[in-house]
Amino acid sequence: MTTIPDPSVFRLLPSVDELLRNDAMAALIHEQGRLNVTEAARLALSELRARISRGTLSAETLDAELRALPVTLQLRVAENTSSSLRRVINASGILIHTNLGRAPLSRLAAERIAGITTGYSNLEFDLDKGERGRRNAHAQNLFSRIFARQAITDTRTAVVNNNAAAVLLALAALAEGGEVIVSRGELVEIGGSFRIPDIMARSGAVLREVGTTNRTRIDDYEKAITERTRLLLRVHRSNFEIVGFTEQPEVADLVELGQRRGIPVMEDLGSGALVDLALYGIHDEPNVFDSLRAGVSLVTYSGDKLLGGPQAGLISGEPALVDKVCKHPLFRALRVDKLCYAALEATLLSYLQEEYDDIPLLRMMRIPAEQLERRCREIAASVEGYVTEVVAVQTMIGGGAAAGKSIKSFAVALACKEISAGELALRMRRFPVPVVARVEDGRVLLDLRTVDCVDDAYLANSLNSIARAE
Ligand SMILES: *Cc1c(COP(=O)(O)O)cnc(C)c1O
Repeated sequence: MTTIPDPSVFRLLPSVDELLRNDAMAALIHEQGRLNVTEAARLALSELRARISRGTLSAETLDAELRALPVTLQLRVAENTSSSLRRVINASGILIHTNLGRAPLSRLAAERIAGITTGYSNLEFDLDKGERGRRNAHAQNLFSRIFARQAITDTRTAVVNNNAAAVLLALAALAEGGEVIVSRGELVEIGGSFRIPDIMARSGAVLREVGTTNRTRIDDYEKAITERTRLLLRVHRSNFEIVGFTEQPEVADLVELGQRRGIPVMEDLGSGALVDLALYGIHDEPNVFDSLRAGVSLVTYSGDKLLGGPQAGLISGEPALVDKVCKHPLFRALRVDKLCYAALEATLLSYLQEEYDDIPLLRMMRIPAEQLERRCREIAASVEGYVTEVVAVQTMIGGGAAAGKSIKSFAVALACKEISAGELALRMRRFPVPVVARVEDGRVLLDLRTVDCVDDAYLANSLNSIARAE
């Protein structure tokens, strides 16, 4: 290898035009666009030029590089034009995984998004009057009908960007400049960035803490009420539990106190289920109906947790309060777009039609464990080069929802002699459709509750390709 640059080698480099003037490159240009291919070609040539200058490319080695160039360009262009947001297979054993996009949308929701958003819509247009309408009219009716079936009448629902926004907006609209009473046991942080005291400060309301971390009595709330009190706030401890010597007033007691003193009760539920979770094997977890039925004036919850819809923050409750929320200037800043309304309405329609299995999250929660065990055995039997075991596991609900609650499930546990569990998990994340698994006790665990059964064969084939490469 020469270390002194040979000027004659530069002359062997083709121009960008010459490089692109052949059938393979014409096809690539047709597929990926001229600018994308030209940019990649220019960069590849300048890298070769730099290597010639450093004296690390001779006429012979350059020839090999040039022959490899079409393939190199193809790969590079593909890399540059691939989106960074990709579908992944969730085998992590966490149902609502915030890092993996929380609730998958139903097919109907996806079709509705496509149908509504690829053209114009009446997002903010009153078709009867032929003039400007209100976007908040969408989803409204569907929510009201769902609540009415539970004998909850006279409610209204506002939709904003996420539940953090819903809490911020509700506090700003109803308590700015006044005080909000919260138990010290409920000053929670969710997902590292949502902290009740911080949101409260941003809303312009003053936090009035009462009780202690483990025990708060209804008396504590009552004693803290002054003429400045605007709300009694209850926050669901959605990602932790306090056990032992604890006390917390019932929602009904808070509502009674609020009604007696003329102060609305607001509840941040976090994961707002619109079904009875006991039917899904999750017990003692409040749903939106329970709160509204107990007389809570305003409930806030996420659209993409147990509801199984798009990212959204929902504010349901007394019409006068929800109207006040919608009139606040922050509502404009936190509003959602047509994609969200389209997906939310489609999801709510599945509830109204009682087609719960259309909603992926609810469907996955209901798969019988024996069915998952059978699928685990099939995968275990079809992979080679691994020590496998089918193990009983618990799928966590996750997503800052239903703290500590889980559903019985099964997983394939895999160990490969040649590579560590961490390395195996990494290679699975590098599959064309990445697989996210968890590592436990030196093995990779694939919990199938959150894996679509059509992906089972893909899992087995990809695992076999890793083992064969070793
Ligand atoms: C998840 C959660 C939030 C935040 O909701 P996002 O939709 O993520 O903004 C707020 N409060 C509670 C109790 C939660 O569980």
